[in-house]
Amino acid sequence: MDEIIRAITADGYVKAYVVNSTEVVRDAQGLHSTGKIASAALGRTLTAALILANDMKNETDRVSVQFRSEGPIGNVVAEANGKNEVKGFVSNPNVVLPPRADGKLDVGGALGHKGSLTIVRDIGMKEPYVGTVELVSGEIAEDISYYYMQSEQIPTVLGLGVLVAQNFAILSAGGFMIQLLPGAPDHIIDKVEENVTKLPKSISGLIADEKNATEILAMLLSGFDYQILSKKEPMYRCDCSRYRVETALISLGKAEVEKMIEEEQTTEVCCHYCNKKYHFSKEDLEMLLRLATR
Ligand SMILES: [Zn+2]
Repeated sequence: MDEIIRAITADGYVKAYVVNSTEVVRDAQGLHSTGKIASAALGRTLTAALILANDMKNETDRVSVQFRSEGPIGNVVAEANGKNEVKGFVSNPNVVLPPRADGKLDVGGALGHKGSLTIVRDIGMKEPYVGTVELVSGEIAEDISYYYMQSEQIPTVLGLGVLVAQNFAILSAGGFMIQLLPGAPDHIIDKVEENVTKLPKSISGLIADEKNATEILAMLLSGFDYQILSKKEPMYRCDCSRYRVETALISLGKAEVEKMIEEEQTTEVCCHYCNKKYHFSKEDLEMLLRLATR
């Protein structure tokens, strides 16, 4: 079963998150028919979005993690909410590249080094909080750690992993994040670094070995007193609806909708996140136009 847990050390200096997102990434792979590299890139991004949304206060709060790259994979986007639900998409699900020298999937090569990472936090204020950094490696975890350092000055260690079989099946997926709160003394920073270095395997390897999130957390926070603050089950879920699609159509503007009415008998709108198709007849669109211009 997928799970996400969050903990804090008794001294208050270290926050930690561990997630097993295997089922979430399997669902994404099934919906988007991603190949190996796209499964890894999208899976890492979905996992990161779940971690970033995990301590949001309200169920309707949202975090969106957007990689816009000039590499062959194009864009990789994931959005999670305060209910631990996540959705995402990738522009090119079928990108194929030779493996890296160390045998790993070349996610960095698929994103390339040119592009940006934007993180949008919507906590129901008038304006969402938006931060952008240039890509450093395109390996996802490194880019998000860099984002935290640059935009929020929070030292962050992030590990993300997706293990994909030769037949494209997702064997395991998950991640962890450790953040140091302001004023953390050097010996605490050293201990955290030591624990991360001493992990016997990558995060996806540990999950493939059936280690659960609590056991992985115990390795990451070895030597610390800590308290688990929450334990939840994450889920891949798209919350699109005909109403939302109608709102998006109206926002395109009158001229654009009039063009659709002229050109097509029925207009098909496909949701990026779940591939659900919505059909609009000429009459539907004319009705929308009347509503929009009233
Ligand atoms: Zn959808």
